[in-house]
Amino acid sequence: MKRKLADENGIENQIQCPYLGTIDRKNLDFDHERICSVTLSNTNIYICLVCGKYLQGKSSKSQAYFHCVNEDHHVFAHLESKRIFCLPDGYEVQEPSLEDIKYNILPQYTKEDFVLFDRKCFDLQRKEYVPGCLGINNIKANDYVNVVIHALSHVQAFRNEMLLGKFSKRLTSNVSDLIKKLWNPKAFRANVSPHELMATIADASEMKFHSTKQSDPMDFLTWLLNSMHRELKKKNNSIIHECFRGFVKVDSQPIQPDLVDDATFVENSCVSPFLYLSLDLPPTPLYRDENEENIIPQVSLALLLEKFNGTQVTEIGNFRKTYTILESPDYLIFHFKRFIKNNWSNERNPTIVNYSVDSLGLPVNGEIVNYRLSVNIAHDDGCFKVHVFNEETKNWYLMQDLAVREIAPEMIFLSESYIQIWKKIKH
Ligand SMILES: [Zn+2]
Ligand SMILES: [Zn+2]
Repeated sequence: MKRKLADENGIENQIQCPYLGTIDRKNLDFDHERICSVTLSNTNIYICLVCGKYLQGKSSKSQAYFHCVNEDHHVFAHLESKRIFCLPDGYEVQEPSLEDIKYNILPQYTKEDFVLFDRKCFDLQRKEYVPGCLGINNIKANDYVNVVIHALSHVQAFRNEMLLGKFSKRLTSNVSDLIKKLWNPKAFRANVSPHELMATIADASEMKFHSTKQSDPMDFLTWLLNSMHRELKKKNNSIIHECFRGFVKVDSQPIQPDLVDDATFVENSCVSPFLYLSLDLPPTPLYRDENEENIIPQVSLALLLEKFNGTQVTEIGNFRKTYTILESPDYLIFHFKRFIKNNWSNERNPTIVNYSVDSLGLPVNGEIVNYRLSVNIAHDDGCFKVHVFNEETKNWYLMQDLAVREIAPEMIFLSESYIQIWKKIKH
């Protein structure tokens, strides 16, 4: 019923909606794909705040309206506008105690909100969590996407752009929405589900990446960064390039000059942009120690990086190549070439890479630029997990889909690192 009173100034005030007590927050999940559960239509979708169903509405011929009449559920929130209505009357419910519901439909941030990120929070079940370290549901085999999203949401400059921005292009908008949910300091539950993003990724990649088939997180990361750059670029620049792009000079000398075909070999020195650097792991001989136990080979990251010092020679085909980093990005991505085939458990190089999380000296055009580790994506028995450094709490966390726990930094290098993101230390 819609009843109104006039106060002494003659302004009509709405009497409190009598159905507010029927709202059940623990039934509300705002992570589903925004489609009507009856018609599968994707426009004008409401969520029933009593049972959580998604329904198209709210006119007298709508699914939300039928649901109200049939189920005696009366309060609905429009997912796009976040406005809340009482059916069948159809009036808007203006009620401060429902602000937490509106916030959870999609959290919005200003820079001032970032101070909330360093504290522990509790969800509706009183489960403790830290913003940014909410688990991500694995729908079937999308752990390769989850680790990449967790990773990028701990690249602070990129994260801030995603939290503060409103994006019209679909992929970037979905990534931004998921990151907004991951940093929610008032979350109803301490995990998120990437349904909307996975649907968009499947469409945009023409099913190259989807939630039911395990894929290579490096392939996915490369695809995602390039796709988002295309959506975001202005004058060919974007937050992707601002964070991750560097330049490397490649000098090539033919080993047997007679074999060089002039048509294919035009220059012996070129400068290329990069979004990540690929590092070769040393080949692993199948040797055992005297106790017949397998020895896990190790290599230092500094040794692998000598490839980029401008003097170390890498032979590729008929060429000797040297690589010089001319410009290093604020966030440096490494890809350790560990997998021999697209097979995540067998035929991989098990070499452990050694490094100190606090400091890495990168040779850049004759100088050393210092970095510290932000993100480590590691292979783990056919799946992937990620270690992230939380800039707000200054702690490391290990995240594998829904599982999240704090971890000591000295444990990180024991994993089979596959992708890392290092942050430049600025003085
Ligand atoms: Zn009402
Ligand atoms: Zn309902």
